[in-house]
Amino acid sequence: MYQNIPGTFDVLPAGTEGAKMPPSPTWRHVERTVRGVMQRYGFEEIRTPIFEPTELVARGVGQATDIVQKEMFAFERSDTQYVLRPEVTAPVMRAYLQHHLGQRGGVQKLFYVGPCFRAERPQKGRFRQFHQFGSETIGAADARADAETVALMTDVYRAFGISDARLRLNSLGSPSDRERYRAALVDYFAPYEDDLSDTSRRRLKDNPLRLLDTKIEHEQRLLEDAPRLLDFIDEESQAHYDAVKGWLDDLGMPFEEDPLLVRGLDYYTRTAFELESDALGAQSALAGGGRYDLLAEELGAEQTVPAVGFAAGFERLFLALEAAGYDAPVAPAPDVFLAAIGEEAEAFVFKKARRLRGEGLAVESDLMGRSLKAQMREANRSGAPYAVVIGGRELEAGRVDAKHMPTGEETEVALDGLTAFLFEQRAGGQPAEAEAAQDT
Ligand code: AMP
Repeated sequence: MYQNIPGTFDVLPAGTEGAKMPPSPTWRHVERTVRGVMQRYGFEEIRTPIFEPTELVARGVGQATDIVQKEMFAFERSDTQYVLRPEVTAPVMRAYLQHHLGQRGGVQKLFYVGPCFRAERPQKGRFRQFHQFGSETIGAADARADAETVALMTDVYRAFGISDARLRLNSLGSPSDRERYRAALVDYFAPYEDDLSDTSRRRLKDNPLRLLDTKIEHEQRLLEDAPRLLDFIDEESQAHYDAVKGWLDDLGMPFEEDPLLVRGLDYYTRTAFELESDALGAQSALAGGGRYDLLAEELGAEQTVPAVGFAAGFERLFLALEAAGYDAPVAPAPDVFLAAIGEEAEAFVFKKARRLRGEGLAVESDLMGRSLKAQMREANRSGAPYAVVIGGRELEAGRVDAKHMPTGEETEVALDGLTAFLFEQRAGGQPAEAEAAQDT
């Protein structure tokens, strides 16, 4: 038997025994809620391909990152190198530049939902195909854009009742600020070089900022007295940082300043933030983001395009929801189950079911020529509020009994009036597709 690749998973129908992931109705509901928050903040959806040229991703994510060095799913075709996208910011910026979205005027507020791929070691909350949602606000240098991104990100979790996630905030200043900071960090660690782990010693050479991520206790202790990036940022960055904090205060949004929160790439500027939850265990990051004013130029733009965004994983959101005891709504049941007795009625039901579906009702019926008893069992299992049994007698009379499943009460209706009857009975009078139609 074939199995799905480790680090990937199937999203299965509700009620599947042993499923490791929430079922498809839960995914749909959660995705819909996320889209709803995005829409309320005025963000428009963008969808980009799941594979891109390797060069775009290498430039956009950064040649020196683990993602590009070790975690890309890459392939080649006709001498062109491609990768499955490990994240969506670089593709969105590519699309923004390619389609001159800036010419639409004003700030472009874009959101995305979709799969990403990284060849990481699979573990709890860490997959090789995972699913992100995120926003990119392109063309806004104002600190309000940073604060709005943080508010949007936080409000997605609040929409699910998760309000205890910790928001960590820092400023990375400009690339030249970070260059000076890097030098100071290297100087500081030089006398301790022999005490450092091999990994940290390597990082000290290649990418000293990554030392700040160390999980080793004595290295963490050394960090307590290490120089702070915030002491190296220029006046404008400091003013921007103060403004972001001011706006977050105005929004009543608590945050912790964390001088160790960094992103190693040169196009990141100023604001960096992360949302963390204790519910997740080792992979504590629910979501993260920041400002990347220099990415557009990195991708070939002739001028600076200020931008800020966040990215979050659905799988981690589900872990947080599980820990919070969140009850996802159950899958919608059909409006009616049509049961047939005899071949003539079976043929009638087969066609009638399609007609009713065309009229907007969700209808189930038997495809296996099963006994009436088996069909009624199926009707029960389906959760349909009504079952209608159709045999020769009903066909002749043109009338049927609609059985209300929860009470057993029967109502006689004309076959031609079945649609109207079922619509009247439907709680709220919404068509079955309403749920999908509400998707933005
Ligand atoms: P990053 O692009 O690394 O900042 O990731 C943004 C968010 O995506 C993280 O906060 C996680 O929620 C999610 N994420 C990143 N990598 C993975 C992964 N391998 N498996 C599951 N979720 C991930």
